[in-house]
Amino acid sequence: MKTALTVAGFDPSGGAGLQADLKVFQAHGIYGLSCVSALTAQNSAGVRGVMPVEPAFLDKQLSVLLSDMRPDAVKTGMLWSGENIDILVRAIKKFRLKNIVVDPVMLSSSSRPLAGKGLWEALRDRLLPFCAVITPNIHEASVLSGTKIKSIDDMKKAAVLLHAMGPECVVITGGHLTENATDIIYDGRFTILKGRKLTGEYHGTGCRFSAAITARLAQGYDAHDAVKGAKTFMRLSFKKTFSTGRGMRMFVV
Ligand code: PLP
Repeated sequence: MKTALTVAGFDPSGGAGLQADLKVFQAHGIYGLSCVSALTAQNSAGVRGVMPVEPAFLDKQLSVLLSDMRPDAVKTGMLWSGENIDILVRAIKKFRLKNIVVDPVMLSSSSRPLAGKGLWEALRDRLLPFCAVITPNIHEASVLSGTKIKSIDDMKKAAVLLHAMGPECVVITGGHLTENATDIIYDGRFTILKGRKLTGEYHGTGCRFSAAITARLAQGYDAHDAVKGAKTFMRLSFKKTFSTGRGMRMFVV
């Protein structure tokens, strides 16, 4: 049995964060492990509160777990602070963790900041060099690359800049670009994945995409094939959603 670890935020609505990651791992036949970086108070309409876990306790969760179990892949979601990133980077080095996928979470769909102090510098300078795949949306890619993204060409330029920061493979998801939902993969060469923008709001889309990539890395696919497979997983996921509560739709699996 292959295993994957998520280091992410807790979402009581079950649609995003570590709950979403565990469900996606399970859907891929991967046994899920999880360390929680922050608790959130949220429902289908949005995030109302964040309570970061004491950094020393995140450290404890990681060291107790990893001194016993070695995941085949790791993903990070909402890490919240630069301090948490430093704790994770220490664990990556100490336990020689591989197949690391970073979803650089910035804002919830309801525009609540999900990034605390020192996060961006730590992410860029200290976590990206260890990363197999990074999955920013266009807002996150703009902040990380320090460029404005208004077109596919801008996405390509940002992808090259982010790739130079260390990750093997950069995927910029274009769902927030108004005219289409085209994703760009850059791993030294470009692959353009054309998409069709769906109407409606879905909870945890970004979390699930990066979790599907992580599950596929754990299964042994290379980064490029893992990303393409995850895109197919997402296309199928969008066919099975439901509404509970007043806000965003939830994915069934
Ligand atoms: N809550 C947590 C814990 C998350 O990690 C994320 C995104 O990564 C969200 C909420 C945001 O989900 P959504 O974009 O669907 O609001």
